[in-house]
Amino acid sequence: MKKTLHDLPRDAFVGATFAVRVDFNTPLVRGRIADATRIERCVPTIRHLTTAGAKVVLLSHLGRPEGRARAGLSLEPAAGCLEGMLEGSVRFCPHAEGLQVSESLRAMEPGSVLLLENTRFLAGETANDPRLAADWAIWADHYVLDAFGTAHRAHASTDGLPRAVRTRGGAAVAGFLVARELEVIGGALDNPRRPLVAVVGGAKISDKIDVIEALLPRVDALLVGGAMANTFFRAMGMETGASLVEPAKCAVAARLLEVAGPGMVLPVDCTVAGALLDGAETRAVARSEVAPGELIGDIGPLTIRLFGRRIQEAATVIWNGPLGVFEIAGFAEGTLGVARAAAAAADEGATVIVGGGDSAAAAHEAGVATRVTHISTGGGAALELLAGKKLPGVEALSNRCSA
Ligand code: ADP
Ligand code: MG
Repeated sequence: MKKTLHDLPRDAFVGATFAVRVDFNTPLVRGRIADATRIERCVPTIRHLTTAGAKVVLLSHLGRPEGRARAGLSLEPAAGCLEGMLEGSVRFCPHAEGLQVSESLRAMEPGSVLLLENTRFLAGETANDPRLAADWAIWADHYVLDAFGTAHRAHASTDGLPRAVRTRGGAAVAGFLVARELEVIGGALDNPRRPLVAVVGGAKISDKIDVIEALLPRVDALLVGGAMANTFFRAMGMETGASLVEPAKCAVAARLLEVAGPGMVLPVDCTVAGALLDGAETRAVARSEVAPGELIGDIGPLTIRLFGRRIQEAATVIWNGPLGVFEIAGFAEGTLGVARAAAAAADEGATVIVGGGDSAAAAHEAGVATRVTHISTGGGAALELLAGKKLPGVEALSNRCSA
């Protein structure tokens, strides 16, 4: 078990400088923050620290500037946005390392907040350069990881820095957002209320083979949709027309089918069209009736009902990946149907976890985001947890039981 903010003694906060790795990697439209959800989700941790009298220094990346300063990827707009949420001042430092940072730090009062510039403006960030981590650790008394979306990366701000802080005698702990992600996702995997039903969709089977393999022995049913179902169909020798298939993964798919048995539930019908475009004429067919040249764009109406029933019988639901090309109205019904069934299950008391950026967007689109138990803030990180892997950013934190 890793330490969280709650494990720190009360007197660890007053006047101490906390380096807090947040995930302010928000979508930008013409330099403005289009969706501030990620910033909002870090507010409880930041507020806890400021209220306790700590000096809070926020580090985050934004986009992929590849080690150079880029005007369009400055974190400055996030400072203003956070200020509105905290109703307190947030200073912005237009640098992420060195003297300028130390100078900004000198002016900090207990309870104040400073946001550093995009950590990926520095080449040492993604390279996990120990010199960069050491530069930060000079002023950081303690470290908090509240960036779940980046926890699967071993970068200077997620790996080198917490380790350097610990070496110098400080604590490296999970913030509230990360602690909740680990608790909810870890709980569903390790000690779920049953039946446990997983729904896995999305574009590529290659992205999610590890997840399917890790989930199969744990779940009571694994419902498969999205384009990855096509690769299973192909492995079963069925016609998939012009659908998205990964031929190189057919052998793995065949092996999974063999070991999975009845636990793996594939679509029984599909919504197909001549093109996956807005306004395309669609038809519902049995999965064995796809014609050459046709594309599978969604699970069919029988499958929506079948999956819906299995989901509503579940006590725990883990959902990752849209069931069809939900961005196009004609192929959105499968994803919306799963979203609605999951929300109905949650209303009845089931634990429902949604992971993955596109799945989260679909849950919002279906209007069920407030009804499900948990929408993960980390796409890649959630997938790695579901695949049973350790997250480097979490591994770097202090352990709860040992010193
Ligand atoms: P998440 O972000 O939730 O993990 P993925 O990124 O794995 O989900 O997959 C989302 C993408 O999968 C969507 O853009 C969707 O259009 C695509 N997709 C789903 N089903 C199909 C299909 N049958 N054919 C082509 N693309 C599909
Ligand atoms: Mg995605």
